[in-house]
Amino acid sequence: MSNTDFILAIEDLTVSFDGFKAVDKLNLYVDKNELRVVIGPNGAGKTTVLDLICGKTKSTSGSIKFKNKELTKLAEHEIVRAGVGRKFQTPSIYENLTVYQNLEVSYPRGRSVWGSLLFKRSDDVMTQVYKVAEEILLKDFLDMEAALLSHGQKQWLEIGMLLMQEPELLMLDEPVAGMSAKERDQTAELLNRICQNRSVIVIEHDMEFVKKIAHKVTVLHQGKILAEGSMDKVQADEKVIEVYLGH
Ligand code: ADP
Ligand code: MG
Repeated sequence: MSNTDFILAIEDLTVSFDGFKAVDKLNLYVDKNELRVVIGPNGAGKTTVLDLICGKTKSTSGSIKFKNKELTKLAEHEIVRAGVGRKFQTPSIYENLTVYQNLEVSYPRGRSVWGSLLFKRSDDVMTQVYKVAEEILLKDFLDMEAALLSHGQKQWLEIGMLLMQEPELLMLDEPVAGMSAKERDQTAELLNRICQNRSVIVIEHDMEFVKKIAHKVTVLHQGKILAEGSMDKVQADEKVIEVYLGH
């Protein structure tokens, strides 16, 4: 495919596990600053799509272009460095470190041209930590040990750890699972804010939450796209009601 303005362009992507196609000739295009939600029944292939994008799983065939750069041949750390951040379902924060320290250790090493001038770099880190802490609603918790945060706050902290690297594409797998109603609302606001200068892909089951954040919704089923479009369009789709929303 020739160069494209999409931040992410997935074409004919297939992965086969012992002959079973978990993702089957998938085409998916995400715009800059778009917040895309992916829904679908269990086993539809949603998590596998994220695994393929971040390089955790290698595709059988097809292409994944991020800013026109082919990702399918890259290692996971190269994909991170290219600007793709991915949050897994269970948070991987350092429980015994403070919120500040968790964010600090996530600052990409060796990025500053002033790397050797330590004080200058720590200044940059501090600025970035405060900026991110504000975005993830934890600026009043910087000195708290991460273990003492609520379940929802831990999820936000992990999002913050990814934001420290300033990814241009952020991917979240079921970010509000286990959160209180209030935390879900706050997460919706948080995501609506952070997609203003990056693209975000969210896998989520909670349709009330999806309504609050979705620009466009993609419905996956058996490794293929069943429907795609606005929330209203997708919710009214007979096929979607049959395989997913009707349950
Ligand atoms: P979803 O996230 O939509 O619930 P998944 O992407 O986790 O679905 O899984 C899609 C299908 O692929 C499931 O049938 C799952 O068992 C299978 N699958 C996922 N990863 C692997 C793997 N590494 N090896 C074998 N089968 C897998
Ligand atoms: Mg999943």
